[in-house]
Amino acid sequence: MKVQIIETVLKLNDQIAAANRARFRQAGLFAVNLIGSPGCGKTTLLETTLQHLSPRLNIAVIVGDLATARDGQRLGRFCDRVVQINTGKTCHLEAFHVQQALEKLPLDGLDILFIENVGNLICPVGFDLGQDVKVAMFSVSEGDDKPAKHPYLVQEADLLILNKLDLLPYVRFDLDAFRNDILRLKPSASILSVSLAANQGIEAWLTWLEQERQRRRTGS
Ligand code: MG
Ligand code: ZN
Repeated sequence: MKVQIIETVLKLNDQIAAANRARFRQAGLFAVNLIGSPGCGKTTLLETTLQHLSPRLNIAVIVGDLATARDGQRLGRFCDRVVQINTGKTCHLEAFHVQQALEKLPLDGLDILFIENVGNLICPVGFDLGQDVKVAMFSVSEGDDKPAKHPYLVQEADLLILNKLDLLPYVRFDLDAFRNDILRLKPSASILSVSLAANQGIEAWLTWLEQERQRRRTGS
């Protein structure tokens, strides 16, 4: 019985996600679902990205947190289309959260929609939001074992970002072990190492983003 209930919830979520996806397609925008643990640098990555790409591209952000509008406020300094969602006790975004946010978000003329998921490496993976790509984010301060402990995220992610490379001398983190665990789970994985604090690796991220966006637009 319990299993059936979970299946029904996921089925409903998938239907709403499909509707979201259809709206994104119609609007011609590229949607990114950003997943990572609390403090890995998701909001910082988006701040940096907005600073580089606005106003050349029209960007909107939906940001999920259990409580506070802090991330929304941070991102609102660089972007006028930001919707903050507070999920209360729910530890991930579901498609209906995004659907509700879209009511407050005009999609016309948008090039990219970023969805910053609730800081969590586990259940955000299971809930389709209608995104084009999932980006998984880790940081060296979390330890090198996080990919191995979260295999579904690694397998589902279109790109894996490792942030806080500048902290490598100060923490116990084996870069080779991190990479090898990822490649064992997904031999075709794309991994980007960045240091947002030291402004390193940003260009590679922006290039990846633009390539993926163009690829989906042209359907190649
Ligand atoms: Mg955040
Ligand atoms: Zn959850």
